[in-house]
Amino acid sequence: MNKEQNKNSNVNPDHSIKMIIRYYGVRGSIPTPMLPADLENKIKYLIVGILKNKKFKGLTINEIFNKIPHHLKSTYGGNTPCVLVKIKGHTLILDGGSGIRELGLDLMGQEFGQGKGKAKIFFSHTHWDHIQGIPFFAPLFIPGNQFEFYSLIPDLENRLKGQQIPTYFPIDMNYMAAEKKFFILNDKETKDFGDFKVKIMKLNHPGDSIAYRIESDGKAFIYSTDVEFNEKNYDTMAETIEFFKGADVLTFDSQYTLKESFTKIDWGHSSIQIGIDLARHSGIKKVILFHYDPTYTDKKIHEITRIGLSYKKAIDPERDLEIIPAREGLELEI
Ligand SMILES: [Zn+2]
Ligand SMILES: [Zn+2]
Repeated sequence: MNKEQNKNSNVNPDHSIKMIIRYYGVRGSIPTPMLPADLENKIKYLIVGILKNKKFKGLTINEIFNKIPHHLKSTYGGNTPCVLVKIKGHTLILDGGSGIRELGLDLMGQEFGQGKGKAKIFFSHTHWDHIQGIPFFAPLFIPGNQFEFYSLIPDLENRLKGQQIPTYFPIDMNYMAAEKKFFILNDKETKDFGDFKVKIMKLNHPGDSIAYRIESDGKAFIYSTDVEFNEKNYDTMAETIEFFKGADVLTFDSQYTLKESFTKIDWGHSSIQIGIDLARHSGIKKVILFHYDPTYTDKKIHEITRIGLSYKKAIDPERDLEIIPAREGLELEI
């Protein structure tokens, strides 16, 4: 069973569903709010499109809304990386980009609001777009909440505290009263948490980054962002395919198109085409485009998704592989 939906759901009556994944931040490099001019253009396009299009005549407002493509009626969101994974009552958070602020507000409506919450936060690395939301993550201020921080970085605690010294932020991290424990992971390690396992693989990125493969009851979710493949590390492709093999969902760094990636060698990011190729060779069912370049508008994200779909159709038409652009609020069940 493999469902995609866009709703808030804490209830999981269907026992074939092992994980619920929700995207709170999908942008790379820096938060990128939609510009007023982009919003105005969408409104103009919609007014003209609806008034002039005969096929909308007699339809209800919801019927019309459902027919309009996402990039025209909404936005993919402007927050930097943060993804929630719920497994059998466990709360896992991948990265603490600006999207974690909104996740924090959702969690405050649950046991985290009463100081009874427990979560594990897994960091890919500490480039600013992956940690900048931590000072605004409300559950960390509530005494009684328990957080475990995981990364490959021995001094993660100091790095996080470093972005909250008085020169940069008014509130010291020591003032965040929740319990905070720090754990160091190792490259190629598999960590068994009982109800789920987490596998780790180091990625080629300035200062290193890591991919996580989260497995539970035969289902697998992969979070692989901030990674570059070029002539220096093409020999690691086979290892990467092995790590990705058979996963239900792959979230992949799609910062650039293939053409753009040729002009940004060693910037540490990938393209949609490489993500699709890795997914094809790994037998992945669903690839989620992620970590969009800050120059990308909603229209451009729609276009790169189409480029990805045509690429897949041209080289591997028979393959059952979904290509989905990540957006804030996107929820997947696997
Ligand atoms: Zn990044
Ligand atoms: Zn980075």
